[in-house]
Amino acid sequence: MDNLQKFIHQVRSRLFLVLFVNNALIFADWWVMEKVIGTDPMRLVISMVVVTALSLTLLPWLSATYLAQPTKLIWQAILHIAPDTANVPAPNLKKRTIGHDLVMNLVSHVYQLASVVDSIEKTEASKPRDLTADFVGNSLPLPLFVLDKSENILFANRAASEYVKRANSDLTGQNVYSVLDMSFGTDETFDKWLAKAKANAAVENKTWERVRLKVPIDGSQRQFDLAAYFNAENPEGFETMLVLFDHTQKYNQDDQGLSFIALAVHELRTPVTLLRGYIDAFEEDLEGRLNPELTDYLHKMNVAAEGLTAFINNMLQVSRVENDQLTLSLHEDQWPEIVKTAVADFSLRAKVQGITIEAMIAKDLPTVGVDRVSIYEVICNLLDNAIKYSGGSKKIIIKSALNSEGLVETTVQDFGAGIPEGIIGNLFDKYYRSHRSRSQVGGTGLGLYLCKAIVDAHGGHIWVRSKEGEGSTFGFTISPYAKLADEKKNGDNNDITRGAHGWIKNHSLYSR
Ligand code: ADP
Repeated sequence: MDNLQKFIHQVRSRLFLVLFVNNALIFADWWVMEKVIGTDPMRLVISMVVVTALSLTLLPWLSATYLAQPTKLIWQAILHIAPDTANVPAPNLKKRTIGHDLVMNLVSHVYQLASVVDSIEKTEASKPRDLTADFVGNSLPLPLFVLDKSENILFANRAASEYVKRANSDLTGQNVYSVLDMSFGTDETFDKWLAKAKANAAVENKTWERVRLKVPIDGSQRQFDLAAYFNAENPEGFETMLVLFDHTQKYNQDDQGLSFIALAVHELRTPVTLLRGYIDAFEEDLEGRLNPELTDYLHKMNVAAEGLTAFINNMLQVSRVENDQLTLSLHEDQWPEIVKTAVADFSLRAKVQGITIEAMIAKDLPTVGVDRVSIYEVICNLLDNAIKYSGGSKKIIIKSALNSEGLVETTVQDFGAGIPEGIIGNLFDKYYRSHRSRSQVGGTGLGLYLCKAIVDAHGGHIWVRSKEGEGSTFGFTISPYAKLADEKKNGDNNDITRGAHGWIKNHSLYSR
């Protein structure tokens, strides 16, 4: 208040001075004109009017600028700290002005206030937002988990807490792995994906299908698809988001359907094996004694029985894949032997259709680490398709060689109708069959799906190249045994744990 009083006093004295100067000027003018010059009354009046007008214009103008100086400095200080006028310089407070002490005092208050506001804003910004209050994710009808940098749950929406049957307050702060069973096997498990995303420090997202989760509270088994989003830069620390799409009912129905088919198919296995045995016996015993027509019938019976066996094997394998029960035991094996056996087993079937299978196997291939029965099925499925879709062409070429990555690559090439480019991406999907195949050739749409599952489980890669009208080449890679053995040595247990599709439970490696 002292400063204000001092300022009022200064203003008062300045105003007094201005008024005094004004009156003094008018008086001096009168005195000079009347007493010194002795002018006539008319001139005297004119001179006094002019002097009065001049002093009334100049003096308020000069004094207003002077008296407004403190306001100007305070105004400049406010503009200097205001957020959207950052280029206004700070006022020079050393300059002597009227109300100097008051200005110093007020400006220092303004600066103090600004620093308090700034620190409050900073504290607010660093505080994690309370998501539970009004976050839109609460209305999402799908379970949603938001994780922080340490993979602890920052927020679980209502659907999430109902899903895992735990109160929301109980979930917050828990590590996600203690709430959700994320140990599902897959090409890339959730934790591996997250570690990679963190290493890249980028924005990433990924989805998983058919993830199984045991709800710890009641032990029930759920099946869902999972979508995850990662953003290291999230300013509020919401680094990872997980959304669960529950398909338990649908997936369980699929599983039950397949279990039933698997059961029925399993029952077919014994009679078909018996039939094949009898056909083989007939072929051996009657060789040379049947006329060409009957020999041809016998061949066709044999081919049909082989086809049926392949179908049964496929169905059983698919049901194992679906039930998480496909077990691979990788053994050291000679790849040319396996390829040659498959080619020999298919030569009759090919011959019946007038097709020859040409095998080109590179010499000195290293031994491979494979599950013989399963990988043999891959070759059989590819050869079977090449025959089925050969469309009247007469040759199939199967080649095996080491590729540039040191993997054993095997290709099966046909010169049939080929595959339209638009559907190539779907071929390895379960039950996928092209429209044309559906109407012209029998099949289940499971062969390539199974091939991919088996090749993936071996840690290999399966691909297709095709041109309509020119034919198709299907290829896959498998690892030399030495490479797998290295992997095993570096692993922390005896099994090769590299996942394939989430369904390979047991993946062990044996040397010969
Ligand atoms: P299926 O042969 O029982 O239909 P697959 O999974 O083996 O099932 O094959 C899926 C689809 O891929 C087939 O229906 C066919 O349309 C296409 N396909 C597979 N192999 C070939 C091939 N060699 N040439 C042309 N089309 C093929």
